[in-house]
Amino acid sequence: MAEKRQISDADKQKILEQHGSRCFIDGEPFSDDASVEFHHIQPFAFGGPTTLDNIAPVCKKHHRSLGTMSLQEYRDKIDLSKFFEGGEPKYLNDLIQYKTKNSDKPINHEISQSKIRLYYHDSTHDFPTYSCPTTGWKYFYGTLPVELIGNDRELQPRPLREASLWKLYRHFQLNTQISPSICRMEQPGSLLLFDGQHKAAAQIWAGRPMIECKVYINPDKRLLKETNLDAHGPYRQMSFYSHELMQKYADIFGEDWNEYMETEGEKSELGFYHFLVNAKQKTIAQARNEIALAMFKRIVDDENNGLSKFLSEKSRGRKQPLSFARLKKTFFQHMLLPPPVEDEFESESDFREDEKINLIKLMNIIAQEGLENKWNPERNDSTHKKAERIFGAGAIRAWVILLRDAINFHLRHYTDEERKRFFYRQIADGDFQYFRQFIKKIFSHKIWDDPDPSGEISARLAKDDATTAKSLFDEKELSVRWVLGA
Ligand SMILES: [Zn+2]
Repeated sequence: MAEKRQISDADKQKILEQHGSRCFIDGEPFSDDASVEFHHIQPFAFGGPTTLDNIAPVCKKHHRSLGTMSLQEYRDKIDLSKFFEGGEPKYLNDLIQYKTKNSDKPINHEISQSKIRLYYHDSTHDFPTYSCPTTGWKYFYGTLPVELIGNDRELQPRPLREASLWKLYRHFQLNTQISPSICRMEQPGSLLLFDGQHKAAAQIWAGRPMIECKVYINPDKRLLKETNLDAHGPYRQMSFYSHELMQKYADIFGEDWNEYMETEGEKSELGFYHFLVNAKQKTIAQARNEIALAMFKRIVDDENNGLSKFLSEKSRGRKQPLSFARLKKTFFQHMLLPPPVEDEFESESDFREDEKINLIKLMNIIAQEGLENKWNPERNDSTHKKAERIFGAGAIRAWVILLRDAINFHLRHYTDEERKRFFYRQIADGDFQYFRQFIKKIFSHKIWDDPDPSGEISARLAKDDATTAKSLFDEKELSVRWVLGA
């Protein structure tokens, strides 16, 4: 994870002046200096924008509710809720109208043998055309101005969904759009988008002026409608979910997953769990374990997970401090909401992705503070021996619980329900700076570098049970109170 740029007081003054001493989110003037905080405008993870231009002032209240969002994302999120306010169904046209104040105009164009010429406001663009070998329909690919696009109420009668749109918006903050949206062009030149409308809408919401499209020119509408229904009938729901999680689950569950996706209705872990038990005759324990395993694998296989390289499974031959089984008994057992949850995949209430990101962030801090440039079995020096004690089988079981309790305390999780949903929520970057302090504090305790000639302490830390290391922590006053203390 990138560190936030430290900005000087002079920089802060400059930024404040640029923004007229108003909160970036709602433009409210600041009441006093104490309520001003600073945050990046575009997602920091994008790389690059560490310049002052990418930092804006924000009031304390809004800063607290940012979660993992950048200022621009948060502003877009508030605007999106406003757009969907009132509960009336909203269509792509409405969204384009809202964002561009102009939509669905016939485009002046000329079609010739092998190309189509489109006339925009003040420029002309030629696109080569191709014809489909089966139907003979002509089509072209183009990156087209948003205001020329309308939605296809005949072929795409469904309204937009806020949750799907928001998830895709977030997805496109970091990922490219792999496949284009599909349109047809009807005389006298209406460009109607009928497939990939959430993708298109998400890009438009992010302020992109152009959308990537494949456009059929005057196709047989009736036949296209049937084709489109065929393509989406059985997989009706799938187009709502972005690919990463679905792909991962498809890889892990294979046919079971594909069959489940073909069933009617909303999709969730709980739905899949029932499907495994009822249609696939799995036992309750099997179904739960399979879903849990898929969650764990997503976390371990994530390329951003800096702790994974310290797993024995990930690097054979070298002695490693951790194993998949150990992660199950520690981080996964104590820091993940046990499946199956009933929240619809990628809906507003589904925080599995956030949970994954939060845990990986925490694991990265642990790798940085406890293992990187420290774990070195070949050298086997005192730094390595200390890391060995910290990551002893019983020790890690005990301090993961200690760390979890400290974080619960910091995040003011008072009820069992809040504690259960430990990382199943958005957590602000600023909180992770506290988590790093907790981890540093735990790893700085004298328990880890006791010379201990008898070897008794090392043996107690290594004992793989839930109580031996814990009782040693108690004796040596390695407690939540000590971790949280100044
Ligand atoms: Zn504000």
